Parts: sequence; structure tokens; C-alpha cells
Amino acid sequence: MDTNEIATPEPQLVLHPVARRGRFVPRNIYELRLDELEGWCHDRGEATYRARQLYRGVYQQLATGYDEIQVLPKRLRDALAEDVPFAALTPIHEISTDDGETLKVLYQTADGQTLETVLMFYSDRATVCVSCQVGCAVGCSFCATGLMGLQRNLSAGEMVAQVVDMARRARDKGRPLTNLVMMGMGEPFHNYDNVMKMVAILHDPMGMGFGARRITISTSGVVPFIDKLATEPWQVNLAVSIHAGDDELRSELVPLNQRWPLAELIGAIRRYIKITGRRVSFEYAMLNGVNTRDDDARQLARRLRGLLCHVNLIPYNPTPAYPYERPGKDVIERFAAILRDAGIPATVRYSRGVEIAAACGQLHVEHAATLRAGADSASGSLDD
Ligand code: SF4
Repeated sequence: MDTNEIATPEPQLVLHPVARRGRFVPRNIYELRLDELEGWCHDRGEATYRARQLYRGVYQQLATGYDEIQVLPKRLRDALAEDVPFAALTPIHEISTDDGETLKVLYQTADGQTLETVLMFYSDRATVCVSCQVGCAVGCSFCATGLMGLQRNLSAGEMVAQVVDMARRARDKGRPLTNLVMMGMGEPFHNYDNVMKMVAILHDPMGMGFGARRITISTSGVVPFIDKLATEPWQVNLAVSIHAGDDELRSELVPLNQRWPLAELIGAIRRYIKITGRRVSFEYAMLNGVNTRDDDARQLARRLRGLLCHVNLIPYNPTPAYPYERPGKDVIERFAAILRDAGIPATVRYSRGVEIAAACGQLHVEHAATLRAGADSASGSLDD
């Protein structure tokens, strides 16, 4: 396969605002930055402070419809309801586990695509794990989302809507939403502009005021966008899914590595750290016997030597579609000890919700399989 195809997939569908009666009509309220909303008000002869009131209603009050934002006059609420749909996503399935500390929701978009989002409660924080694409073009060998291929990019509003809905669910449990990780379905750097617009919308102090340092963007290693992120005004965190310390194995696990091998990836991360002064996290999915040997740990340590970094070791969530297994605790601890002995800080992170298929894309894949099974049995009965 041409590795350029792997590295730079074209968006399948771009969600531009739609035209209605020749006017600018956004697809949903969550697509709009505050300045765009002010422009929308200005175009209709409304005072621009109305946009700030609306923004507070959407992102601080967490309203579920315009009628809940009573500070706005009825004529403006009616105009908004006609022009700008409020809902961007519809929850169609949800599962909670870990005694209610983990919630996974499957959403449907306006065009019938499905995506998933996870909310995780910890003692000191509540974290939402956001999807940025339906499917993914990277095709990591252990990932359920990779099975689907890329269906399309999500718009900024579709990502913002995941966060707002999860913020409501956290609030219902008396908890504020504090952290956001872009580790759901998709490669964020294959949808860079929309991800950055999402950050801008969530970061706005007139809205949710989500601190950039509480946002983590994870990449499988799209090198040009690591350099680009280093120049952005927001101090978001960068996480890199590394999964192996040598190119041969990493290319098997993360095909993108054929396009940007480890030397290039680490070079970009060095530049990123030099420009930003920020520590980078490395995610390492532990696949028993595949990348968990002592030599794998030593190779990884050599690659990361001298970097301002931290390694998160994530024991694999087994998926029926793949033969990989979760390593035992002794293997995990031994791997971590080799890294630490080499001066690389490492933490073992047991991912949440194993029993509800919390690995990225699994809920979606299982839902799709259920639908397919239903369709197959329906067509089977017709054939009969
Ligand atoms: S692990 Fe991430 S980058 Fe790799 S296929 Fe899955 S969603 Fe895409």
C-alpha cells in the first residue's frame, strides 16, 4: 500500500454550514465560536451581547434547548430554533460500569453515523474521552476502530457536543467535568482544523472555560502536525501512541510508522518539547508476548532517553476480533521497572470498563455487528 495514502487520508465528508434562503446557517449551535455567533447576531440586527448570553446558556448553564435560555427574548429564541439546530448528536445506547464510575455512550449524528464517548470519574477529576472521527484510517492492528476504516471526520460541533453532553451527565452526579482526552475513535491530527476549533470553543472563558492544560490530544504519530501543534497558542497536552521501540514491530502495530518512522517521530517530539517546554506522554498498549518482552522495554527506554516525557503503560483490553491478550501483572511490573531503572518515568494505567468494551471503537463495532446480524436475519427470513 502507498504509505502516503495511510498518512494523509482525505476527509470523506466536510460538514460545512448549509445555505438556507441565501443566508449563513450553521449546522448546529456547537459549531460556532463566540465571534461567529456575534456575527450571526449582528447580521440579524441583534445586539452582540446576546451572543455572550447565548454562549453562557449553552456552555455554563448547559441548556438542552433554546427555551431553557430564558434571558434571551422569545423572538431571538424562535429565530435561533429556526436557523440553528440545537442538538448535534442523539444518544442511542449507553452502558455504565465500574460501579457507575465509567459511562460509555454511543451517539448518532444527523446523517446516521455512530460514534462513542466515554466519561470516567476518578476521586479528583472527571474525564471525557472524545472521538474525532467515525472510524479511522490509521488501522492499528489491535484497534476495533481501525477495523472500520475511515467513514468521515467529525465536525468541531460534533466533538463539542460530546463534551457538553458528558458535562451534563457529570453535573447530574454532582461532579464538574475537569479533563478532556482526545483518545476516542479516530486520529485527531487527521482532523486537525476541526479539533483546534473544538479547543477554541471549549476554551473560551465566556463559555465552558475549559483550561487548555486539562486537554490532551493524542496522536499515533502524524509528524507534520506535531510541529504545527507546537506553534498553537493553546497549551494543550500532547500524548503519542508509541506501542513499540523498534520500527519493524511498530510498523506492524501502527502502519503510519512506515510513513514516519521512529527517528522522525522522536525528532518531531524533541522539537515540540524544545519549543513548548512541555512534557510529552507516551501511550504504550501492552500486548502480551508481542511488545512486552524485556528487550522491548530496553529498546523503548533507549528511544526515549533524554526526553521530557512520561510513559503510560496500558494493559490491553481484549477484543473478540483480535488474538491479542492482556499480560499478567508480573510482566507489566517488570516492564515498568526496566523503564524506571533507565530513568524513564512510567505508570501502569488499567483502562476503565473492560467489561463494557471500553477500548476505542469497540462499542461502535459491536453495535454495528448487532445491526448487521439483525439485517442478516431479516434478509435470511426474506430469502426463506
Ligand atoms: S488506535 Fe487510534 S489511531 Fe490507531 S486505528 Fe485506533 S483510533 Fe486509529
